[in-house]
Amino acid sequence: MNRRQFLKASLASSLLGLNACANWQIRSQQKAHVVIIGGGFGGATAARYLRLYCPEIRISLIEPKTVYTACPGSNRVITGLAELASLSFGYQGLNQAYHIDILPTRVTAIDAVSKRLQLQTGDHLRYDHLILAPGIRLRWDTIEGYSEILSQQFPHAWQAGPQTLLLRDQITALPDNGTVLICPPADPYRCPPGPYERASLIAHWLKRHKPRAKILILDPKRSFSKQALFEQAWRQHYAYGTEKALIEWHSLADNPIQAIDPKSHTVITEFGDKFRGDVINLIPPQTAGQIAIETGLTDQSGWCPINPLSSQSLLVPGDAARPRSC
Ligand SMILES: Cc1cc2nc3c(=O)[nH]c(=O)nc-3n(C[C@H](O)[C@H](O)[C@H](O)COP(=O)(O)OP(=O)(O)OC[C@H]3O[C@@H](n4cnc5c(N)ncnc54)[C@H](O)[C@@H]3O)c2cc1C
Repeated sequence: MNRRQFLKASLASSLLGLNACANWQIRSQQKAHVVIIGGGFGGATAARYLRLYCPEIRISLIEPKTVYTACPGSNRVITGLAELASLSFGYQGLNQAYHIDILPTRVTAIDAVSKRLQLQTGDHLRYDHLILAPGIRLRWDTIEGYSEILSQQFPHAWQAGPQTLLLRDQITALPDNGTVLICPPADPYRCPPGPYERASLIAHWLKRHKPRAKILILDPKRSFSKQALFEQAWRQHYAYGTEKALIEWHSLADNPIQAIDPKSHTVITEFGDKFRGDVINLIPPQTAGQIAIETGLTDQSGWCPINPLSSQSLLVPGDAARPRSC
C-alpha cells in the first residue's frame, strides 16, 4: 500500500468508526459496551479514539500487565542510549482522562455467539462489540533446541522488558573480539526493520567500546526491509562490504538456520553449516496472539485476515465497524 492509499484507507476507517458509533447508539437503548482485549499500542489507541468518537458508550480495556513496556525504542536500551523505565507506561491516564474501565486480567476464552468473555479471574464479561488487539505469539517449535527457557540464555528481546535487559548485559560483557549473531525470522513478523535497526545500534556501541568485535546477521530472507538505507549507513559508518566490516549480512534463504546447540554456542543450518556466537540473538517466527488463534480468527498463515477498511475479521463475522449501507 502506498502513502496515498494508506491515507485514503485511514480516512475511510475513521469514517466507518464514526458511522459504527452512531449505529451502536441507535441499536441499543442502553449504553453500548465495547470491550478491548490487549492494552498495547493497538488496544490503547483504539480505546482512546473510541472515547473521542463516542463519549457516551462504556469502554473496558482488559490487560493483565499493570505496566506496559513499549518495544519501539527498546533497541536503544540494549546499547545504553535509553533506560527501560522511559518505555514503561501505566493505564491511569486512560482511566482518569478517558473514563475507560481497566481490568487487570487476561481473557481466557471468547464466546463470539453469546458475546461473552471468560476471564482468568473466573468471572465472565458481556460485550456488545469486541476489539481484539493481543499482539503476537512467539513460535517456539521452529528452531530445534530453542525454547522459552533457552531464551533466558539466548535472548530474542522481541518483547520489551527483561529480555531487553538480558541482551544489553550480554552485549556489555562481550569479549573484545567477540561475535554477535543476530538471527531474524522469515517474513512476516513484527517490525520488519527491527533486527537491522538493532544491528546498527549495537554496531554504534561496539565501534566505540569493542571495535574488534563483529556482528553477523544470519537471515532466512533474500532481502530485508529498508535494505538500501541500512546498507548505505553501514558502508558509511561500519566499513560494510569490506574485510574490516563491523556488520556482515548473510542471506541464508536456501540454507536457513534449523537448530541451536547451546553447549557450543552455535546455530546450525539445514545443510549443517555452523556459526558460533558469543552472543546469540535468536528472534523466532511469530503468529497472531494466542487468543486470536483459539478464537478461530487466524488462517493457515497464523495471522488474522481482515477487511483493511474496517479491521473486521474475515473469518469470524461481526458488526463492529460495518457501515449502515452494508
Ligand atoms: C525491537 C522492536 C522495535 C520496534 N520498533 C518500532 C518502532 O520504532 N516503531 C513502531 O511503530 N513499531 C515498532 N515496533 C513494533 C511495535 O512494538 C508493535 O507494532 C506494537 O507493539 C503492536 O502493538 P499491539 O497493541 O498490536 O501489540 P502489543 O504491543 O504486543 O500489545 C498486546 C497486548 O495484549 C495483551 N494481551 C495478549 N493476550 C491477551 C489476553 N488474552 N487478554 C488480555 N490481554 C492480552 C498483552 O499483554 C499486550 O500488552 C517494534 C517492535 C520491536 C520488537
